[in-house]
Amino acid sequence: MDVAVRKANFAVEVDAIELTKELIRIPSVNPPGDETACANYLAGVLDRLGFATQLHSFGPGRFNLVAQLAGNGAGRPIGFTGHLDTVPLGAAPWSFDPFAAEEHDGKLYGRGTSDMKAGIACFIAACSRMLGELKSGGGVQLLLTGGEETGCDGARALAEARPELFTELALLIVGEPTSNYPYVGHKGALWMRGTAAGKTAHGSMPEHGDNAIYKATRAIDRLRGFDLDGNEHPLMGRSTMNVGTFRAGLNINSVPDKAEFEFDIRTVPGMDHRCLCTQLKSVFAGEIDLDPIVDVPPLYSEVNHPVIQRILSVCSDFHGEPITPRAVSYFTDGSVLLPPTGHPPTIILGPGEPQMAHQTDEYCYTARIQEGVNLYQALLEQGFE
Ligand SMILES: [Zn+2]
Repeated sequence: MDVAVRKANFAVEVDAIELTKELIRIPSVNPPGDETACANYLAGVLDRLGFATQLHSFGPGRFNLVAQLAGNGAGRPIGFTGHLDTVPLGAAPWSFDPFAAEEHDGKLYGRGTSDMKAGIACFIAACSRMLGELKSGGGVQLLLTGGEETGCDGARALAEARPELFTELALLIVGEPTSNYPYVGHKGALWMRGTAAGKTAHGSMPEHGDNAIYKATRAIDRLRGFDLDGNEHPLMGRSTMNVGTFRAGLNINSVPDKAEFEFDIRTVPGMDHRCLCTQLKSVFAGEIDLDPIVDVPPLYSEVNHPVIQRILSVCSDFHGEPITPRAVSYFTDGSVLLPPTGHPPTIILGPGEPQMAHQTDEYCYTARIQEGVNLYQALLEQGFE
């Protein structure tokens, strides 16, 4: 089915629900991760709308897609980011085929409906209604990434390898699932693996060995006592730390020579991850090798920033109620994309249901998808500069 319908004035308007369905039918599960078909399909849709598109490969089958609609007017483009990959299906059976995009009772089912193919579809649909205005204004840039679900891999690769594809943005919309409610930030995530090395020996003669488990547990104790030193953030609260995995020992009657643990630190704005890594190294006093797994800085836009105020006002009119500034619980590509886009004010806003992300029988309400297109359109009409 063609998602674009040609209108009398020869403009092309994209149907967001149909486009979401098309995207659900193109699996992009990560891991293993393969955005080839999804990125190519969207490049075709955006090409037909007049966008200049660039595919960026960051590994076999791995793709980011950057699409730009240049504006003739003054001002910087409005930016949007969304990820093309989805999480796997999970072990539990689904009630509906996760790649068939079936509609039941106002819900569109499928892996990636809420997180976040509907968000991408809504933004493209909103742009398709506004092509003329966008071209005579500052234009628009889409940063569609792969590999987000495994820790913003695609966004990071794009920022490092193709800085020339980025432009300073007037604002960045992150289309992650928020039920169309605007969120102004999220905590950062620093995931680390600690490895302790020892020396193996027979379990009956431990004095000949060096037990790596003892080193690792000592390190974990120090970690639990470590003051993360983040001030309490008014919207996000305090930083947190959790040790999530521990692996060591091959058999009961040997001294283990290797122990590994992984921990997850969530940081609040103002905390510097590089600084934190240095502090952790000194906490472990050279007994533990540290390797970063995921490093995504916190994201926060000042609520009083005039652009954020305008966005909140549009959303407030839209929802018919005052907006309470909030932070989302997950992290996004937004924080990785801020430096190459000139640190624009950033809002997390998308039609998906946040509690549906990563769930069995994931769905997105079709009414939210329609609402999402209207809301994005209302923001584009603001013509941020
Ligand atoms: Zn997501």
